[in-house]
Amino acid sequence: MKEIILCKLGEIVLKGLNRKSFEQKLLSNLRHSLYPLGNYRVWCAQSTVYVEAADENADMDAAYEAAKKVFGIIKLSRAAACEKDKDAITALAREYLHDALMSARSFKVETKRSDKRFPMTSIELSQYVGGELAEAYPHLRVDMHEPELIVNLEVRDVAAYVHTAAEDGAGGMPVGSNGVAVSLLSGGIDSPVSTYMIARRGVRLVPVHFFSFPYTSEAAKEKVIELARLLTPYCGKMCLLVVPFTHIQEEIRDKCPEEYFTLIMRRFMMRIAQAIAADQGARAIVTGENLGQVASQTMEAMASTQSVISLPVLQPLIGMDKEEIIRFARRIGTFETSILPYEDCCTVFTPRHPKTHPKLEEVARAESAMDVGALVAEALAGVERVQVGR
Ligand code: ATP
Ligand code: MG
Repeated sequence: MKEIILCKLGEIVLKGLNRKSFEQKLLSNLRHSLYPLGNYRVWCAQSTVYVEAADENADMDAAYEAAKKVFGIIKLSRAAACEKDKDAITALAREYLHDALMSARSFKVETKRSDKRFPMTSIELSQYVGGELAEAYPHLRVDMHEPELIVNLEVRDVAAYVHTAAEDGAGGMPVGSNGVAVSLLSGGIDSPVSTYMIARRGVRLVPVHFFSFPYTSEAAKEKVIELARLLTPYCGKMCLLVVPFTHIQEEIRDKCPEEYFTLIMRRFMMRIAQAIAADQGARAIVTGENLGQVASQTMEAMASTQSVISLPVLQPLIGMDKEEIIRFARRIGTFETSILPYEDCCTVFTPRHPKTHPKLEEVARAESAMDVGALVAEALAGVERVQVGR
């Protein structure tokens, strides 16, 4: 019996003329994810992507799990294929779904027929196969409204397929179909989630981490590398840029009024991120900011940090509650790593009484003793590149 994974495409179906290039992106991202898991045949027809084992080394369980993480797929299911004949379809349903048919108490058959040359209508085929299955499994009751098991049949161009209920895929759009952005990745809970959310909109991300050694440890850096690695099944391979931030933070400590430390530090992050964006062809900066969560995330504080750059700042978590963000982080698998107890540069030299409602000119004055251009250039010259994923 030949097993296959059917992946239904999401929004990309709506994209009219761009559709082909969206499909190509999705296929190439999916092939990339499957590459380490064996050999597969992957192709697209009628808004569905098919994944089939190419040899006996292919692991269909692992392929299914990987496909669930590929953006652009809205639903997926495992199926078995056979020739387009009502009795072949019935026999396949009995073989492929035997365990499920044995353990359910009620069922119904649903058919989709995209091959309009098939001699029976969808309803006729459902009734025929449903009747045969009811006879073969006498304990089963047909229930059209709340069946325990739905036997799905699809009659498509090249074959017929039998599968159980589809599961949700990762949704969104294929990474790479919507440009590039720089994502500020701390070791916290929020920024891996914001990175994931923007990747789901089809954006390829360049993660950037500001590193204040020795105030923040090697272990803190390793943790961020691990977070970036955990995101690669969704985001694809990435090059994490680690920016040396110690000198800037020491200069801020030595030359600026304490209540502005965090704000000035964040302005430096933005300037450096924008310079990296220019270099990488990125068109936006992504952060895990969340309105009101900390002193630097008031509207005035964000106005002050954003005033030093011209690129849009994407803040997908801005209106979420912490509990929702945590649930999200658990679901995508970054939470347990995020809560490992290492320092972040944001917790180095934190002011006792941070300014929460700063005026733009006050902040500019507070940083006026620093040579901003030289410090930014020095940090950029020391960037370390860490490749994650293949
Ligand atoms: P997170 O959980 O993502 O660390 P947070 O709630 O702790 O967020 P802040 O520490 O104020 O918030 O940081 C806000 C955002 O700034 C982060 O979500 C991240 O995008 C960025 N950021 C903070 N620290 C760093 C860092 N060391 N390197 C890169 N980006 C950072
Ligand atoms: Mg943080």
